Amino acid sequence: MSTLRSTHEWQAADAAHFLHPFTDFKGLAAKGSRIITRADNIYLWDSDGHKLLDAMSGLWCVNVGYGQEALVQAAARQMRELPFYNAFFQTATPPAIELAEVLAEVAPPQFKHVFFSGSGSEGNDTVVRMARRYWDLLGQPQRQVIISRHNAYHGSTMAGASLGGMSGMHAQGGLPIPGIEHIEQPYWWEHGRTQGLTRDEFGLVAARWLEERILAIGAEKVAAFIGEPVQGAGGVIVPPATYWPEVQRICDKYGVLLVSDEVICGFGRTGRWFGCETMGTRPDLMTFAKGVTSGYVPLGGVMVGERMARVLIEQGGEFNHGYTYSGHPVACAVALANIGLIRSLGLVEHVHDEVGPYLAQQYRSLAEHPLVGDAETCGLMGALLLVKDKKSGAAFPPELEIGMVCRGHCFREGLVMRAVGERMIVAPPLVITRAQIDEMVALIRRCLDLTLADARRAGWLA
Ligand SMILES: *Cc1c(COP(=O)(O)O)cnc(C)c1O
Repeated sequence: MSTLRSTHEWQAADAAHFLHPFTDFKGLAAKGSRIITRADNIYLWDSDGHKLLDAMSGLWCVNVGYGQEALVQAAARQMRELPFYNAFFQTATPPAIELAEVLAEVAPPQFKHVFFSGSGSEGNDTVVRMARRYWDLLGQPQRQVIISRHNAYHGSTMAGASLGGMSGMHAQGGLPIPGIEHIEQPYWWEHGRTQGLTRDEFGLVAARWLEERILAIGAEKVAAFIGEPVQGAGGVIVPPATYWPEVQRICDKYGVLLVSDEVICGFGRTGRWFGCETMGTRPDLMTFAKGVTSGYVPLGGVMVGERMARVLIEQGGEFNHGYTYSGHPVACAVALANIGLIRSLGLVEHVHDEVGPYLAQQYRSLAEHPLVGDAETCGLMGALLLVKDKKSGAAFPPELEIGMVCRGHCFREGLVMRAVGERMIVAPPLVITRAQIDEMVALIRRCLDLTLADARRAGWLA
């Protein structure tokens, strides 16, 4: 297919018919999409044959890297055997049952049950339905409010976007839906550094914003708190080590359910199977998607802790919720092969013991670059904050779009690194080697140098 048309022809057809997610349709049509045609390991190729190191794992999902034949074979085998059957009418398929079983093995011990969805957004819709249903069943129907955080990302359905704290998303389509509140994010650079707090001091302050909000609403009205262990789409915001344990203490104190959105952090990204294990929390619900299949096919879901599962099972009656593709056999077969590969390659340990610490070490050296104000990593996620003045930490004016300038250099130099405002972020496939991290970091350094040269030439520096 990809060889049949020229880049220009693909771009013309794309502009004529394909409305892309999170895109200025007109702007992209004028510029033309980059057409990605194939991939292997941690590399992509576009329709002009240009090779790119994919430091974003597609969209945070290709944990085992591209070209893994075991996943391809699993999909083909399952499609031949049974491409689809539903789980609505007292039926089930072997891959869905087996995946539920395997998820209960790899998840923290409180999780024995799973509800499948087709995506992370749908998983978070399930979270809202399930948390509120749980409190109804316990005779506390007034416990409806779910607290989340500004600059969180929990997907793009009505509930997902409402739980998320992206102001641009709330500005379109009448969001958030009722009963969702947001507190400030645990972003030390923005809210702690300027107050003269250490990271650890700030972590406690940020967690107590949750307690203050619970008390302001009334604990008897709060159903749950939801957060990503490390905020991904918000710019890889790594919370201080003190933050999550304090959040856990507060949720316990007021009986509020804790929901860990593991769509990015799950399946090894932080160096443990799930981010909550790295952060030291015991969530009641965990949303997953992305890395569960390494993005080879869509799949998501919610792990349900025993505290909730017992109530939903014993007292629940019918739960009036589900998706056509809940437990899709092909997706589940691919997830089983993917988890099998994460286990047999020892990828969680590889991140924890080997490439995670190595990335952290490389980022400490990148922190010395004149354009970098702050550098942080967690497992195989990393962020560099670009600043105008390294000494004072003063920011570039947003209209200069310094992140996009840097991102432009990355694409030209053969690196996919994402810009979130002034934060340049990476989350490479977990199969990445030390030598490939060296290659990635050399590309990052070159792009920082090129961006610095641009900024000097334009007189943007302090
Ligand atoms: C991507 C993402 C989602 C949404 O998942 P989709 O599969 O795109 O619906 C939810 N939460 C987090 C943390 C994510 O990164």
